[in-house]
Formats: sequence, structure tokens, C-alpha cells
Amino acid sequence: MVLADRVSKSFGSNEVLKSISLEVKHGEVMCLVGPSGSGKSTFLRCINHLEVVNAGRLMVDGDLIGYREAGGKLYELAPKDAARQRRDIGMVFQRFNLFPHMTALENVMEAPLRVKKVPRAKVEQDARALLARVGLADRADYYPAHLSGGQQQRVAIARALAMEPKLMLFDEPTSALDPELVGEVLDVMKGLAKEGMTMIVVTHEMGFAREVADSLVFMDGGVVVESGDPDEVLSNPQHRRTQAFLSKVL
Ligand code: ADP
Ligand code: MG
Repeated sequence: MVLADRVSKSFGSNEVLKSISLEVKHGEVMCLVGPSGSGKSTFLRCINHLEVVNAGRLMVDGDLIGYREAGGKLYELAPKDAARQRRDIGMVFQRFNLFPHMTALENVMEAPLRVKKVPRAKVEQDARALLARVGLADRADYYPAHLSGGQQQRVAIARALAMEPKLMLFDEPTSALDPELVGEVLDVMKGLAKEGMTMIVVTHEMGFAREVADSLVFMDGGVVVESGDPDEVLSNPQHRRTQAFLSKVL
């Protein structure tokens, strides 16, 4: 589903991703961990067309997102195809980014109403089903300000799912939450993983990684330092940088 082959990305002279190679197969969950500034968000943003790679090859579900060989011309997906691609990728951020002037239901309905040629009644029916799926059937008419952080994040997940994505990207989805609200969001994500959603999750929740992820990738300074089976990486990290990081978050 996602293939990164020696992907590099710089901002000016700051090389943020240095030859990243990794692969996520259909239905797999990859957890991406690493210290702040290691390039995790930038990598997700490249997958979702919010940044353009400088070198290497990045593919999502068979589409070439960006490609450049050393010194060669940059290839990018045509804007029309990039827009189509982006509709197939759901993204959930640390901050919930809900529209504050819309209810939970309206937030979930917004994108499908705007993009899909489906009758409003059907969009509403689907949106209510999604809210039920994230445990918020009874909060459909609440505005974000009247929902807890955990509830807002679950609405954000339902909103991303409304476009029926084939890939979900999560960028520290629980980092801004009070500790007692983290579990309800992780539970929704676990459910998604069980249903076979392909997911890349940037998180410091190692319990989630161990339980749910098929692979764990540790990044530091723009490189993949170590990757593999989550249990193995977590219980027997090979690199000193991984050990140092894990000793702080575990
Ligand atoms: P992480 O998500 O692992 O904390 P980021 O991908 O956000 O790391 O950032 C990696 C590095 O890239 C940081 O040094 C950050 O300052 C830099 N960076 C990220 N986005 C931009 C940008 N739009 N312009 C310039 N520098 C950026
Ligand atoms: Mg980040």
C-alpha cells in the first residue's frame, strides 16, 4: 500500500528525511516512533501530498507520488490524480481540527457532501453509522466545544472514515489528550486495525504498538534507525539510540 524507496526531503539546507526506505502492506499497521524533530510528520505529509519529496521514490497503492533519481527531474503525480489520491487517504492530527461551527454530525457529513455525488439523506445515514462506530451515536448534535478531547478526536476519526479511505495516517492522535481519554481513542483505532484498515500511526503509545502494530519503525535524525516486529524492537532494541528513546517513553 505504501512503498518508500530511499525517500529524502529537505527544507532549504535542512535534510529532514535522509533516504527513508520502508513498506506497509495492505491491511497492515505500522507504528512510527522517534524523538521530536526526527521527521515523522514530514514523512506522513509526503505520503499525503502536503510535501513533495526531493529524491527517491514514494508510492501509494500503485500510484507514484513522487520520484527523482540523483540529479534527475522530479516526477510528481498530476494535480487531478493527486487530489483523487488524497481523497483516499484519511489523516488524523494531534489537534482535532474539527470545524467549530458545525455539529459532530455536520463535521462527518461535510466532505462527502462536498465531494461525493450522493443524496444528503444517504450521507447523513452513513455519518450517523460512523458516529455510532466510534461510540458517539448520542453526540451527533453536539458542537466540538461541548465534547471532550477524546470525543472530538473520535469525531475526527469518523470524519476521516467518511471518505472511505484505503489508508489512514495518524499523527500523534492521543498526544494532546488528558491521560484518562487516551484509551477511548486507541480503542477506536484498534477496532479499525481489526477490520483490516491499513494504518501508519505516529505515536508514543508503546502498548498500542505492541498489541496492534505489524511493524514498528524507530526514526531519529531523519533516518530509520531500526524497524521490525514491535515485540522484538521493544524488548530487544539493537541500537543505542533506540534504547535511549525507549527508556524515556516506556
Ligand atoms: P517530528 O514529527 O518527528 O517531530 P517533523 O517532521 O515535524 O518531525 O520535523 C522534522 C524537521 O523538519 C524539524 O527540524 C522541523 O523543524 C523541520 N520542518 C518541518 N516542516 C518544516 C517546514 N515546513 N519548513 C521548514 N522546516 C520544517
Ligand atoms: Mg510530528
